[in-house]
Amino acid sequence: MTSVVGVAVLLLTYLQVEWDRREALRQHVADMENLSTALTRQAESTIRDAHTVLIGIQRKLQVSGYGAESLREVLEVARAQSAILTDVEGFTVLDADGLPLLTTVPNAATQHTARDRDYFVLHSTHRATGLHIGAPIQSRMSGDWVISLTLRLNDANGEFRGVVLATLLIQRFVDFYRSIDVGSQGVLGMVKRDGTLLVRSRESAQNAGLDMSKSPVLRAVNENGVKRGSMVLTAMIDGVKRIYGFDTSDEYPILVAASLGEEQAMAAWRTRALQTWSLSGGVLVIVIAMGWLIWRALGRQGRMEARLQSMHRDLALANHALQIIAGEDALTGLANRRRLDEALHAAFQLAAAQRQPLSFVLLDVDYFKRFNDQYGHPAGDDALRQVAAVLKQHARRSADTTARYGGEELALILPGSESASAMAVAERIRAGVEALAIANQGSPYANLTLSIGVASCIPGQTMQTPADLVAAADVALYAAKGGGRNRVMLSEQPA
Ligand code: GH3
Ligand code: MG
Ligand code: MG
Repeated sequence: MTSVVGVAVLLLTYLQVEWDRREALRQHVADMENLSTALTRQAESTIRDAHTVLIGIQRKLQVSGYGAESLREVLEVARAQSAILTDVEGFTVLDADGLPLLTTVPNAATQHTARDRDYFVLHSTHRATGLHIGAPIQSRMSGDWVISLTLRLNDANGEFRGVVLATLLIQRFVDFYRSIDVGSQGVLGMVKRDGTLLVRSRESAQNAGLDMSKSPVLRAVNENGVKRGSMVLTAMIDGVKRIYGFDTSDEYPILVAASLGEEQAMAAWRTRALQTWSLSGGVLVIVIAMGWLIWRALGRQGRMEARLQSMHRDLALANHALQIIAGEDALTGLANRRRLDEALHAAFQLAAAQRQPLSFVLLDVDYFKRFNDQYGHPAGDDALRQVAAVLKQHARRSADTTARYGGEELALILPGSESASAMAVAERIRAGVEALAIANQGSPYANLTLSIGVASCIPGQTMQTPADLVAAADVALYAAKGGGRNRVMLSEQPA
C-alpha cells in the first residue's frame, strides 16, 4: 500500500516536472522565434532605407552624369538623407579606380583606393548584380567596422564607371542588440546567407566576418530550405548550449538568430523542479512514516489480540479449575463427580453411625446419543440442563445431594430414605422429565426420557461400602434399560 502510494507520488512528480520543463522550453523557443523575426524586420528596414538612397544616387548619376554640378547635387541630397538614417555611416561614390568622387562620411580620409575590396572587384567584373551586402570590413575612410551595401555604376555605354556605397555601422547594431535583454549567456546575431557573420551582440567586431556556414542553423536554412525555426544546440564560437530562434529575410540574403543560454533560461524551471521534488520527497517521507506507524500499530494490535486470546484461555482454564475446586459441574450446576463421591462417603458414614437408611439413585438419559445426533450438541447440553433442573426440583431436603455422575448420567443421594420413598422420588423425577416433552425422534417414546436405578441400604449392616451401593444402583439402572427404558427399577439387593 505504502509502496503503491510512493511509486504514484514519484511518477506524478516526474510527469509534472517533465511537463513543466517542456512548457518552459516551448515558451523560450516561442520568445526567441518572435525576437528573431522582429530583428530580421529591423535589419531589412535598415538595409532597405540605405538601398533606396543608393538607387536614387545611381539613377541621378546615370541621368545627370559625373559633372561637378551633378556630383554636388548628389552630395547635397545624400548628406541630408545620411543625417536621418542614423545607422548609416555615410554614402560614398567611387570612380572606376576605386577613389572617392564624393562621400558623406564625416572627416573621411579620401586618399585610399577601394580597388581591392571584394565588392569593388565584384561590381567591376559583374554587370548584372543588384544590391551587394559585403562582409564586415574596417573602413579606410573612418576606421570604423562597417557592413558595405553597394551598387554598380555604369557609364552611358553600360561600361563600369564605379561603385556607389553605403556603410552601415556595426557598432550601432551591436548597441541595439545589447539593449535587448537575453541574459548574460544569450546572443543575438545577424548572418549573411552564405554564412558570413555580420553582427554578434556579445563582441563588437572581433568575430565579424567569421564563417558560420557550417552551423546547424545555416545548414537548416540553406540545405533544408527552413525559413524560420528553432533549435537547441551548443554554439560553435563559445561552446555554450543555447535555445535558438531564427528567421530569414525574403528581401535580402540575411538571417537573424536570437538565443538564450539554456542553463539560464531553464534556471527558473530547475528551481521549480527542485521545489517539486523536495515537496514530493517530503510527502514520500510522510507516507513512509505513516505506513510504518500503521504497520507498527497493526503489529501491536495483533499482539494485543493474541494476548487477549491467551488470557481468555487462561481464564477458562482457571474457571474450570475453580469449578472443580468448588465441586460444581459447569454445565448443570449440580455437584460434580468428586463432590458426589465425598458426599456419598460422608452420608454413608453418618448413616452407619446413626443406623439410618441411605438410598442412592442413578439416572441415565435414554437414547441421548441419537438426540445429539439429530438435534446437535448444544441442544443436548440444553436438554441436560433441563433434566438437571427437574432433578434438583425433586431433591427437596437439605441433606439430599444432586450430582452429575458423568456424561448424561446424573445421581441423587437421599440420606434417611428407604427404598419406597426413594422409588417415589425417582418416579416423580422420571415423570417430571417425561412431562417436559422434549422431542426425541430417535426414541420409541418420541420424547426425552430417563431410565433410573434405585438402591437402598442400611450402611454397615446390609452394605459395607459406598461402592456397593453405587454398584447396586447401576445394576438396577441396567435392568431399567433392559426393561424397555423410561422406567424406574429398584435394586434387588436386600435393603
Ligand atoms: P441409552 O439409552 O442406552 O443410554 O443410549 P444413549 O445414547 O443415551 O447412551 P450412550 O452411552 O450410547 O450415549 C451417551 C451419549 O450421551 C453420548 C454422549 O455424546 C452424550 N453425552 C454425554 N455427556 C454429554 C454432554 O455433556 N452434553 C451432550 N450434549 N451430550 C453428552
Ligand atoms: Mg449412559
Ligand atoms: Mg443414556
